[in-house]
Amino acid sequence: MSWEDNVRKVVPYVPGEQPKVADKIKLNTNENPYPPSPKVGNVLKNFDANSLRLYPDPEAFKLTEAIASYYGVDNNKVFVGVGSDDVLAMCFLTFFASSKPILFPDITYSFYDVWAKVFNIPYKTIPLDDDFKISCDDYMQDNGGVIFPNPNAPTGRDMSLSDIEKIVKNNSNQVVIVDEAYVDFGAQSALGLTDKYDNLLVVQTFSKSRSMAGARIGFAIGSKKLISYLNDVKYSFNSYTLSPLSIELGKAAIEDDEYFKKTCSKLIATRENSVDRLKELGFSCIDSKSNFIFAKHKTCSARYIFESLKKKNIFVRYFDKPRIDNYLRITVGTDEQMDIFIKTLKTIVETEK
Ligand code: PMP
Repeated sequence: MSWEDNVRKVVPYVPGEQPKVADKIKLNTNENPYPPSPKVGNVLKNFDANSLRLYPDPEAFKLTEAIASYYGVDNNKVFVGVGSDDVLAMCFLTFFASSKPILFPDITYSFYDVWAKVFNIPYKTIPLDDDFKISCDDYMQDNGGVIFPNPNAPTGRDMSLSDIEKIVKNNSNQVVIVDEAYVDFGAQSALGLTDKYDNLLVVQTFSKSRSMAGARIGFAIGSKKLISYLNDVKYSFNSYTLSPLSIELGKAAIEDDEYFKKTCSKLIATRENSVDRLKELGFSCIDSKSNFIFAKHKTCSARYIFESLKKKNIFVRYFDKPRIDNYLRITVGTDEQMDIFIKTLKTIVETEK
């Protein structure tokens, strides 16, 4: 017998690499290539270090209120956390306490099964169809809850709002969570359905469309009852999640709608242009409504391309997993970054021939 017998052993989630080399093109963790709103920069410049002396507002009221006002919902329908990973972890702990398995796609955000395992939540994965689509009929079976991203990751494919509503409506005895980390890049949000269904929780993040992955701000919007249960678990875990600085930075970001819309449109235009150029090089791309492209080449293996790009300090994401091990997930960068990326890719696939 050793103390190690009492250790909870888990296989952790593996985040994308944060390479230390200079002069790299980093297209591997779905960060936004543009800086946050200049108003976020102003908050940083004017931030009073003395405010760090005190514990922050546990409700992060200023930020919660700003998010509520932006989306036109009551303050008590909003929950904030340290990135959407923190919000999602709290959701797993709060809403998935059934002995029945929760359902999520087989190809999806690879944190879901990690949380299920660490919290001892039974789960069942539902295969995406041959086109990598989530089929809503598969989510009508008996379950302890449902979670899926829209658009899905790493495919980037979105789901219609009517299909999402079918899932929510037919699972009224379970909580359904829609992870909308990438929704601002062209998919339809289910936020409007949270008025109609008290079992629907929508989770979003400032990490992608608001260029603030480093600030760690995520939030959930749902019925007052869902948010209240979520807060009970949060306050049983860690009351002070967001720092006073993050609260101020997040508020400034959400209030600058013009900048947000401008950078999202720019990114979408670059994505569409990059998809066209990838197709010319012999890639097929799944229709993406996110800030990344999931692509495979007709002859060249994804692993070979991934490794060849890495040698040239261009980083994309490769998942060595069944069904997707010949795909690359390419985060959309600036036009300049994509230009270098595509030119490098051209030499790689052409010399392989
Ligand atoms: N959901 C999905 C589908 C993601 O890809 C990510 C990013 N890794 C997250 C949630 C978490 O993002 P963050 O914690 O930065 O908000």
